[in-house]
Amino acid sequence: MRVAILGAGPAGMSCANACLSFGLEPVVIEATDHIGGTQRSNFHPNLWMLGYPDETGEQMTRRLAEHFRQLDLTLYLRTQVQSVGAAAHGFTLRLDTPQGGRELEARAIVLATGMRPRATPELAALAQQSPRVIIGPLASAIRDEVRHARVLILGGGDNALDHALFLAERGNTVRVCTRRHFSARQAFLTACRGRPEIELKAHCVPDRLVAEADGRILVHWGAVRVRYDWLLVMYGYQPNTEVLAQFDPAIRPQLTDSGHVQVDGWQRTSVPGIYAAGDLTVSPQPSVATAIAQGIAAARAIERDWARHEG
Ligand SMILES: Cc1cc2nc3c(=O)[nH]c(=O)nc-3n(C[C@H](O)[C@H](O)[C@H](O)COP(=O)(O)OP(=O)(O)OC[C@H]3O[C@@H](n4cnc5c(N)ncnc54)[C@H](O)[C@@H]3O)c2cc1C
Repeated sequence: MRVAILGAGPAGMSCANACLSFGLEPVVIEATDHIGGTQRSNFHPNLWMLGYPDETGEQMTRRLAEHFRQLDLTLYLRTQVQSVGAAAHGFTLRLDTPQGGRELEARAIVLATGMRPRATPELAALAQQSPRVIIGPLASAIRDEVRHARVLILGGGDNALDHALFLAERGNTVRVCTRRHFSARQAFLTACRGRPEIELKAHCVPDRLVAEADGRILVHWGAVRVRYDWLLVMYGYQPNTEVLAQFDPAIRPQLTDSGHVQVDGWQRTSVPGIYAAGDLTVSPQPSVATAIAQGIAAARAIERDWARHEG
């Protein structure tokens, strides 16, 4: 029984592995040219995976990916889903692969497309104009290039303050601006307030941001103008649900108010035969461990639902 898994992050990779052990035939479809998902570029120490205290997200992902590569399955990289429709025994997916169009029949679909950093359209456009505008926390430039610089961070959550501390330790001067109040953990707030290189500003919204010819960013605060070497946008994350636009409306799973895919305790969506796992679904604490567990649960649910259906 074939299972089409969209996304090769921890949730998708884990689901594929579990599918094989339950006697299912996974086909994994990944939009980028690599497997591993969000943690692939995380140079920070992994916080939540018990048993690997000294590993970074990158190292953890490398280990998961090495195991995944040993699995006997079909993987499509750099592949877009063009359409998904109901078929007599499941679903038909039309794929755009580097080798051309493909049609795939699958009994079940697992959505495991994760999340991506959030940005306003204006900030996304600014990032196109300047490599010194970074959206989201995991860019290698933050680790390798931002030194002894003046940095503006927009955002008031854990990622914003965690990065302020990271950058202050590397000789940067950091201003963190949040539209309303800081929502970060108290420990981050206390640590930031203890560092003279960090300025925390609540109720702070720049009037205008302009990318200059050398990539630096001129920020207008009323009549005051300040030039920053780097701008980091830490506005949190949003679920990658765009692929659902390719689904026939009759088989489009329901979303929650927050835009995540709604699932039950077995990772079933509102559409029979379609499941979802990982950051794409609401989770009290999104993490690699949670995504891995949900991937396994989805595979188990498919196997059980199929056995019931047959039996
Ligand atoms: C800054 C930061 C630090 C973190 N630190 C930790 C940590 O220390 N420890 C920890 O356990 N967790 C950490 N996390 C959380 C962890 O990264 C996620 O919970 C985990 O990666 C979720 O896995 P996932 O498979 O659901 O999604 P992802 O890892 O996002 O993978 C989704 C995959 O789907 C692909 N995709 C997207 N759209 C499509 C499409 N239309 N078609 C096909 N493929 C698609 C993506 O390219 C990607 O490969 C951190 C997250 C962030 C942002």
